[in-house]
Amino acid sequence: MLNWKNILDFAVNGNPTPDRRIEKSDEEWKSLLSPEQYRITRLKGTEMPHSGALCSVYDPGIYSCICCDTPLFDSTIKYSSSSGWPSFTQPIQKNSIKYEKDSTLGMIRVEIMCNTCDSHLGHVFPDGPEPSGLRYCVNSESIKLKKKNE
Ligand SMILES: [Zn+2]
Repeated sequence: MLNWKNILDFAVNGNPTPDRRIEKSDEEWKSLLSPEQYRITRLKGTEMPHSGALCSVYDPGIYSCICCDTPLFDSTIKYSSSSGWPSFTQPIQKNSIKYEKDSTLGMIRVEIMCNTCDSHLGHVFPDGPEPSGLRYCVNSESIKLKKKNE
């Protein structure tokens, strides 16, 4: 299980190697995504809190990257953080997420991205529930839920 120390280590010393890489030009991404998905995932945008379609969805299933389909989170580690964004305590796999220090907005945060295609997902914070203590704060537009038995 990843903890905050592991996250800082990834952000400072380098990320785990993904199982595969997907790279496309901005034009290609633009043609594949909705304008809002493109703004958030490729231009590091943020959706308005409580606006996302997946905020209060807890159906069993797998959340994958909207850009490249790579599984990122499992519904069993989704929890209600009341932050206004879908929140998770762990990635589905240790190497599925990429971490980078983000000093915009005058504070140090850790940005989370899809480790396969570099899609911006949101940020991770050290104020999540035990045992990991992590809160992966993710834009609804960055992920899609594939429900179990679908
Ligand atoms: Zn991706």
